[in-house]
Amino acid sequence: MEWADELAARVSGPQVVNDSKTPSGTVHVGSLRGPVILDVIARALRTAGHETTLLYGVDDLDAMDAQALLTADAVERYMGVPLAHIPDQLPDGHPSYARHHAQIFIDLFADLGIHPDRYYWMSEIYASGAMDEYVGRALDRADVVRDLYRRVSNVQHPDTWHPVLVVCETCGRVGTTIVTKWDGQRVFYECRADLVTWARGCGATGWASPFGGRAKLPWNLEWAAQWSVLGVTIEPCGKDLATAGGSRDRADAIAREVYEREPPIRIDYEFLNIGGRKMSTSKGRGAAAHEIVQVIPPEQLRTLFIRPRPNHAIEFDPDGTDAIPRLFDEFDRLADATAGRPVKGELPPGYASVFRYALRDPAADVAAEAAAFRPSFAHLAFLVQVPGADIEALMAAEKGTELTGHERDVLNERIAAAQAWLESYAPDRARMTVREALPDEVRSLDPEQRAFLAALAGAVLHEGGPSGGDAWQSAIFSTAAGLGLPPGRAFAALYLAFLGRPNGPRAGWLLAGLEQDFVLTRLREAATQSVGAAS
Ligand SMILES: [Zn+2]
Ligand SMILES: [Zn+2]
Repeated sequence: MEWADELAARVSGPQVVNDSKTPSGTVHVGSLRGPVILDVIARALRTAGHETTLLYGVDDLDAMDAQALLTADAVERYMGVPLAHIPDQLPDGHPSYARHHAQIFIDLFADLGIHPDRYYWMSEIYASGAMDEYVGRALDRADVVRDLYRRVSNVQHPDTWHPVLVVCETCGRVGTTIVTKWDGQRVFYECRADLVTWARGCGATGWASPFGGRAKLPWNLEWAAQWSVLGVTIEPCGKDLATAGGSRDRADAIAREVYEREPPIRIDYEFLNIGGRKMSTSKGRGAAAHEIVQVIPPEQLRTLFIRPRPNHAIEFDPDGTDAIPRLFDEFDRLADATAGRPVKGELPPGYASVFRYALRDPAADVAAEAAAFRPSFAHLAFLVQVPGADIEALMAAEKGTELTGHERDVLNERIAAAQAWLESYAPDRARMTVREALPDEVRSLDPEQRAFLAALAGAVLHEGGPSGGDAWQSAIFSTAAGLGLPPGRAFAALYLAFLGRPNGPRAGWLLAGLEQDFVLTRLREAATQSVGAAS
C-alpha cells in the first residue's frame, strides 16, 4: 500500500477526506471500491499522525433519471424529481427513495470496517442554508461558469443559461428546469417539457428564490461547493468522472475560478469489471454489493479492492470460478508474508500495509492477526460437504493446538462463506456428495486399485487410524508407493469408492472428515467390489 502511505507522507496539517454518491438504485459491488479506498486513505493519514476527518455524502437532491428504478405507476409522476422527494418504492419504512437506497449501501460500510466520522445528506445541507453562499456566487459568476464549460469541456450553454437548477414550485421536478435570469435575490426559471429526454417538465415559469433548498447546483458546481462547505483536502475519483475534460476537471476549474480555492488532492481509481460473462442470477446471486457480501467476508472483500493499485482495473469473475477461493488464498498469503512465514509467488509492494489495511478493525494487532491460524478456504468448502465432519477438531489437528477464540471466529466466518459460496457462485466441480451406499462406479476399478484399497484399510487399522487430513494423505501416498501404484490411480480409486466419480478434492481430508468405521467398511467393500450387497 505504498501509494496511501506515500500520500500520507506528503501532506501536512489536518485532513478532510470525502466522497459522495447519488443513491439512484441497487449498487454494484464495484461501487464499494471508492469507499474502501477512501477508508484506506483515512487509515494511512491517521497512522502517519494526521488529524483526519472522514466524510461520506449522499447526493440526494439529484434528479431521478432512470425509469427502470421506478414502479410503472411512478414513472410519469417522479421522473426528474429529486431522489429525496420520491417516496420509497418498497413498503419497508424508509422516508424516501433516496434514504432506502443510500441506507442499503451505508449499512455495508460498518461491516467492511469503514466508519465515516459523519454522513451528510445534500438535501439537508441545502435546506440548512449552508449552500446559499455558493449558489449565489455561481449565479453572480454565471459568465465565468459558461466560459469555463466551453474551455474545459467544450460544452456550449446559451448566454442566458445560469448554473442553478430550481425545484419547480408547480411539479416538483428539478431535472427539467432552466434558469435564464438572476436579479441578485431571485431567479427566473422555466420548467420545460423538452429540456431533457428522460423527463417532461410541466411548463411553469416564474421568479423564485434559489436559496434554502429551493434550488440546487448542477453536479460539477455542487461538487466544488461541497469542497468549500466541508473543507475537503483529499477526494478519490472514479474513472467515469476522471476523464480529461470530464466531471472532475470541471469541478477542479470551478473550485479555482468560481469558489477561489485549490481543489482537493485527487486519487483516481479504476473500475472493477465482473468477468466477460453476464453474472448468473438464476441462483439468486448477482453482482449487487449487498448480495456479494453474503459470500465474501469483509477482509477478503477489502483485499479484492486494495491489492491492486487504484489506477489498475480489477477483473473479477466469481461465477462458476475459483475467484473467491483465490481471494482467501491471497489474503492468507499476505498474512503469511507479514508474519515472516515463507510464501510462494510475487508479493505486492508494501504487502504488510496491504494486509494491515485489509483488516476490518483499524485498531487490530497486526502481528497477532498475521500469526493467527486460518483454515484454507478450499479445504473448508470441501469439509462442509463431508457428513458428520468435526471441522473444528480437524483444524485443531492441522494447527497442532486448540484454536483461540479469534481463530474459531475466523473459522466460523469461513465456514459460513464456504457454504454460501457452494450455494451460489461455486463451479459444479467444487460440489460433491459422499455416497451413502457403495457406488456402482467402483466396477471400473482394476485389480491393482482394489488391492490398494484393501491395503489402505489394513494399514490404517494397524496404525489405529490417522489423526487428521495430512496424516491420511501420507498414509495414502505410502500405501500406494508400497504397491508401486501411481498416486493418481490411488486417488482415483478413493474418489470412485466414496464419491462415485474419478476426481475430487484432497482425498486425505475427505477420509479424515468421515466416520472411521464408515471409511474402513467402504474401503473393504470397494476392494471386494460387492456392489449393492453390503449397504
Ligand atoms: Zn425502503
Ligand atoms: Zn414543473
